[in-house]
Amino acid sequence: MPAVGTVLAWPAVAALVGRYGHPVVASAVRRVLAAERGRLTRGARARTPAALVAAVASTVTTGVQPPLRRVVNGTGVVLHTNLGRAPLSAAAVAAVAEIAAGYSSLELDLGSGRRGDRRRLLERWLCDLTGAEAALVVNNGAAALLLALTAHCRGRAVLVSRGEAIEIGGGFRIPEILALSGARLIDIGTTNRTRVDDYRRATDGDTAAWLRVHPSNFSTHGFVGRPDTAELALAAHALGVVLLVDAGSGLVHPAVGPVAAEEAMPAVIAAGADLVLGSGDKLLGAGQAGIAAGRRELVDELARHPLARVLRADKLQLAALQATLLAHVMPGRLVEVPVARMLATRPPALRRRVEGWVGELTQDGIAADLVLSQGAVGGGTTPGEALPSVALRLPWPRPSLLRQRLLAGEPPVVARTTRDAVLIDALTVLPGEDRWLLDAVREAARRD
Ligand SMILES: *Cc1c(COP(=O)(O)O)cnc(C)c1O
Repeated sequence: MPAVGTVLAWPAVAALVGRYGHPVVASAVRRVLAAERGRLTRGARARTPAALVAAVASTVTTGVQPPLRRVVNGTGVVLHTNLGRAPLSAAAVAAVAEIAAGYSSLELDLGSGRRGDRRRLLERWLCDLTGAEAALVVNNGAAALLLALTAHCRGRAVLVSRGEAIEIGGGFRIPEILALSGARLIDIGTTNRTRVDDYRRATDGDTAAWLRVHPSNFSTHGFVGRPDTAELALAAHALGVVLLVDAGSGLVHPAVGPVAAEEAMPAVIAAGADLVLGSGDKLLGAGQAGIAAGRRELVDELARHPLARVLRADKLQLAALQATLLAHVMPGRLVEVPVARMLATRPPALRRRVEGWVGELTQDGIAADLVLSQGAVGGGTTPGEALPSVALRLPWPRPSLLRQRLLAGEPPVVARTTRDAVLIDALTVLPGEDRWLLDAVREAARRD
């Protein structure tokens, strides 16, 4: 086994050092030699210096590829958490680029020339859209809920229906967030049915809030029931308790289907909730952000809490949110938001697009056809609800192999597989990605 220093001095490896720098190449050499040591102890034959050099070179080149990359989403899942949820509109991308490239009025009041408050930047638009008196933007939806529970409920009781003490994913569980906030969780009702009376009977002088959580990623059927938000708000207020609603999706515009309108933040506020919490990068279609909207004194209580500083949104999140909110505020501009546009796309338009792809690929001798498919909203928004869609079907003897090749392509294409084919759902392939997609499919299908 050569020493690390010896390998680094080999001319081919020294050339790599010149190009990629010492730390990257030395780390690759160490890893290749460690793997070689493992092979030798397992009784394998030693690799030639040329083979070691090749292994180092490939480790170095894959090692300097940026790990966070643009991909084509062929899954048909519009809000795919693994794929970064909502893609931004062109206006939001431009706003992020512009704010990122220079200084900004993040905390400067341009009218008075005095120090401004980032909290006020988007508050008016958020209030106009949700109907709330006040609003606050934080880092994400989970942060909004943690802040609300910590600032308003710490050391007191919070009532949650047993049907809503849920796990959202990514380690986000309602009982754990409650414990973290220092509030005491009181389970009420049952998994399938909870009534207003269950809330009333469990309420005493120590109760800070009733928390309603949108069951994001599962649905219940059969003998199920829960009070509607208006009923719950009336009962809570009669007892002097606050109603918090974790709405999850961040939907503010009822025209963004196919979500039940009563889940939208304006509907929750109109029903009398004191505070509604939502996510920026789900149905709102912006970047990662958390929104808390509701009664002025409650929102102020959240904003004053020291945790608000810890969980605050940064200027790039605010820039993306600002442009996306403007598209919601201005009439006719909602279609600019990719999530809203995808959810409004109907199968005939998708069919025409996939027919074009099939035509091009078959002309190149690649077997391809069109199938009806089912997309999904995803992101924990409309469990069990499918979006009618159309997919490109690539028959392939071992579909998982072709799927893997598509992932390894440039740009990577994320596809689904069936028993005998790879499916690329057109719903989530963005306009302007057609050329990339077809080139990537040609490349992956060629290497046979
Ligand atoms: C997604 C979701 C959250 C978390 O929002 P993030 O922005 O992902 O942090 C919280 N509650 C519900 C009900 C959700 O659906």
